[in-house]
Amino acid sequence: MKIRFIGGADDVTGSNSLVETAGKKIVVDCGMFQGGQFNEVHNAEALSYDPKEISAVLITHAHLDHVGRLPILVKEGFTGFFYATDATRDLAELVMHDALGVMMHDNVKFGRPILYNDQDIASVMAQFKAIDYYEETDIFHDGSVKVTLRDAGHIFGSAFIEIVSEGKRVVFSGDIGNVNVPILRDTDNLPDDVDMLVCESTYGDKLHESDESRRDILERLVTEAVHRGGVLMIPTFSLERTQELLYELDKLIEQQHRLPPVPIFLDSPLAIGATKVYERYPKYYDEHAKELIKSGDDMFMFPGLVLTETRDESKKINSTPNPKIIIAGAGMMNGGRILYHALRYLSDPKSTLLIVGYQAYGTVGRAIQEGAAHVEIMGERVAVKCKVQSVGAFSAHGDQAKILSWIASGKNLPKKVCLNHGETEVKHRLAAKIKTKFDIAAVPVSSGLEVEV
Ligand SMILES: [Zn+2]
Repeated sequence: MKIRFIGGADDVTGSNSLVETAGKKIVVDCGMFQGGQFNEVHNAEALSYDPKEISAVLITHAHLDHVGRLPILVKEGFTGFFYATDATRDLAELVMHDALGVMMHDNVKFGRPILYNDQDIASVMAQFKAIDYYEETDIFHDGSVKVTLRDAGHIFGSAFIEIVSEGKRVVFSGDIGNVNVPILRDTDNLPDDVDMLVCESTYGDKLHESDESRRDILERLVTEAVHRGGVLMIPTFSLERTQELLYELDKLIEQQHRLPPVPIFLDSPLAIGATKVYERYPKYYDEHAKELIKSGDDMFMFPGLVLTETRDESKKINSTPNPKIIIAGAGMMNGGRILYHALRYLSDPKSTLLIVGYQAYGTVGRAIQEGAAHVEIMGERVAVKCKVQSVGAFSAHGDQAKILSWIASGKNLPKKVCLNHGETEVKHRLAAKIKTKFDIAAVPVSSGLEVEV
């Protein structure tokens, strides 16, 4: 078996790998590159393989940087099946349509390219084959390649993928979830006898703070922000982070009455749509969330929450007096409605920007996180005078401790680990840590690298 690392190899976005085995070519994830622009120039470059020669596509989860270029595969001649969980399939459809919407907007405004159309997305959906967790699937019906999905605990429907072929066992981690995440089940253990683990390393050199629970942190930050009398802006990743925030706010407001009443706007059509997918698949909830549902609580709805789906509804948020909370996409502030709110409130010392997720190089979110005094938003220079806070506890990614414990979660250690989906320095530091801790080969990959398993 041969693995070629293509996207998500030098950095965190644009996940895309190619597996060659049993005379077949299999793609794992095909996501969009994201940086300063929602649709980076790399996305329009030709793929380094011919989609007509691909026999199957395996998908770990529905984040844009893992599914955003699937329609290009179909457009360029891929006729096989896409395999993922049913929740990933449904979320991916929303994510691709949302991406198309942003690309159309950016095309009109900035003349940037549109990579695919509605018909291409419909073709992807028609070629989807949903498979359940733990269900070993003989994808070519000849025993040559067997695929099993296990819960990655990263976002709803997320999986890490085990491929057994030519007598070898390879695992692609996709993204590995954080610990103690509400709604989601914990990350499953790694299978035994793994010959090669391809592992993400987004937070491979960091430890998330853990002395305070995410609910306490949220309570403290919301209370402070409300007392300052400004706007609390939370740039959100529409899948998972938003639902977790809603879940915690539901607890704080409706169930435990720990927060003062304040209007909370969920200003993201994608997040609103994604929440409906959660409601469709309660089978994937953890035990606590299942009990909540049984008790009759709608864990994503509470007094004060306003869902603003249309642009007009979104604009009305401006006329609501402060204090207020706005949860809006995009999570790295490289597009989406959060930019309109940021234009208004970043320079307001009474307001707060709460960063709850990974911010890629080149994004507005990253610049603010690193202390920029000014940022450029939609051609305007904006002073950053609001309070800026970053909270790792809300990350959808496990930190170094979680990654290390996951690598060691099978009966035996994987023979070799290849590290992708991380910044170069981070991958090297994690590789060094893995080598000293476990005494196994750990290779930080880069784009174009090919390894033989
Ligand atoms: Zn992800």
